[in-house]
Amino acid sequence: LLQVHGLKKSYGQTEVLKGISFDLAKGETLSLIGPSGSGKSTCLRCLNYLERPTEGSILLESERIGQLPDKRGGFRFMSDKELAPQRTEIGMVFQLFYLWPHLNVRDNVALGPIRAGGMSKAEAYELADEMLDKVHLRHKATEYPERLSGGQQQRVAIARALAQRPKLMLFDEPTSALDPELVGEVLGVIRELAEEGRSMILVTHEIRFARDVADRVIFMDGGHIVEQGAAADVINRPQMERTRSFLGQVG
Ligand code: ATP
Ligand code: MG
Repeated sequence: LLQVHGLKKSYGQTEVLKGISFDLAKGETLSLIGPSGSGKSTCLRCLNYLERPTEGSILLESERIGQLPDKRGGFRFMSDKELAPQRTEIGMVFQLFYLWPHLNVRDNVALGPIRAGGMSKAEAYELADEMLDKVHLRHKATEYPERLSGGQQQRVAIARALAQRPKLMLFDEPTSALDPELVGEVLGVIRELAEEGRSMILVTHEIRFARDVADRVIFMDGGHIVEQGAAADVINRPQMERTRSFLGQVG
């Protein structure tokens, strides 16, 4: 489904991603773990071109993300307008939920398909309700975000991303802004999506969750992939000293 090759990203003189390469098969859940500042968020943000990589290529179903062939046999960056359809193919859920406060839950979920997908309101509402079912919040469809708990708001954000019918979902620490008692309900939804065979990349500090739910794990440090493999292998039997010491610290 996804092929990432030689991804690099620099801010000024600082190289934050130093050549990241990995593949994701359709239906696979990949978890990205690593210490703070190792480049996990930057990597996710490059995948959907929220950040423009300095080098490297990203192919989603063989379609090159963010770049088009130019006349000289090379590639040029897409404009924001050219990027828009690709962005709907890659759903993203952040640490903070950024719901629209003046829209109720159903409208929050339906807005994307109406605006970007050109769906009728009736179709979009039907789709929104279906997605709200997936996150177990159909009963809150007419509620406003401020009246929901953080965990519920994050689940609406997940439904909103799903409503774009993305080929790939990216989660960047979706539970780290939540009170501890609300983490479980969000992880529960992510687990169900994984079991349903969605293709997902999850950045998380919840190491046990990553081991249980992800098919594969990538451990990053200092802008490099230090180790990757089957989730249980990387987490229970890390080969590299860096991985071992990181896992030792986070428990
Ligand atoms: P965390 O676990 O804390 O979220 P992370 O692995 O997601 O960390 P990134 O946010 O990708 O790490 O950051 C990697 C490095 O890139 C950090 O050193 C950070 O300071 C730097 N960085 C990130 N964004 C920018 C930016 N817009 N400009 C300059 N430096 C940046
Ligand atoms: Mg981060």
